[in-house]
Amino acid sequence: MKRWILILSLVTLVFAIAGCGPSLATPAAQPAMKAMAKAADGTLLRKIQDRGKLIAGVKYDVPLFGFLNPQTNKVEGFDVDMVKAVAEAIFGDPNAVEFKEAISKNRVPFLTDGVVDIVASTMTINAERVQQIDFSDPYYVAGQSLLVPASSTITSIKDLKGKNVASAKGSTSETNIRQKAPDANVVLFDTYAEAVAAMQAGRADAVTTDDIILFGFASKDTTKLKVVGGQFTIEPYGLGMQKGHQEFRDVVNKVVRDMKTSGKWAAIYKQWIPADKVPAVPPQNWQDVKLP
Ligand code: GLU
Repeated sequence: MKRWILILSLVTLVFAIAGCGPSLATPAAQPAMKAMAKAADGTLLRKIQDRGKLIAGVKYDVPLFGFLNPQTNKVEGFDVDMVKAVAEAIFGDPNAVEFKEAISKNRVPFLTDGVVDIVASTMTINAERVQQIDFSDPYYVAGQSLLVPASSTITSIKDLKGKNVASAKGSTSETNIRQKAPDANVVLFDTYAEAVAAMQAGRADAVTTDDIILFGFASKDTTKLKVVGGQFTIEPYGLGMQKGHQEFRDVVNKVVRDMKTSGKWAAIYKQWIPADKVPAVPPQNWQDVKLP
């Protein structure tokens, strides 16, 4: 009898040392969420899973949405948090992401050429773009506006006749301003940071793009810059994906929908957007987005 007890104790000890005795081993640190089951062979989702990280295109120069923080050397913002939520759903790890800078004109080619899996780059869903790429449900609604020096007399798009108005190549802002202010002289840059710098150097009278991008720049220098003219377009943002990968799009849309219903969307909104109140979540269909 005693010998059996001894053998049992020895076996337990060996299991404990080997780390496989379930009741004796120290529990391993659990990830916040479990990785999702493997997708079917040959799908983009499976390729992403096998690679072990998501490759995402975000802005690096847009405060509040996609900004490379020089202090931390990490990108941060609303768009970055949307990407991290997708990575968390796929891998159980929000940091399983390689970020690449996707400026406005690169976003669609980055997807069609397969440079990135997903684009979260203040990108408006519109009829022209849905011909080329797929989008998630809308996750933010912006509207185009104007940024001017604090001393400027420009108060609306009606005041832009003969003025130099800076914007970014490949943006809806460029197309919209040509239609809404045909007498303005549109000057294009690769990034909004360059457009703002040009205005601050006196080479443009205004910068035009989505209000929330402009608020981000103005908030860095409230004494010298102001946003004027209200919202003169509707810009529903979607996460861009290469066309035809339904399994990946379903995962991304589930993330967006879960964020909207769980309160995570509202938490991210509160964290990044300088507003008194969190608005209602954007509708599921971009065509249903209306000006407030
Ligand atoms: N949301 C607009 C667009 O997708 C303007 C902002 C931007 O260029 O990122 O083109």
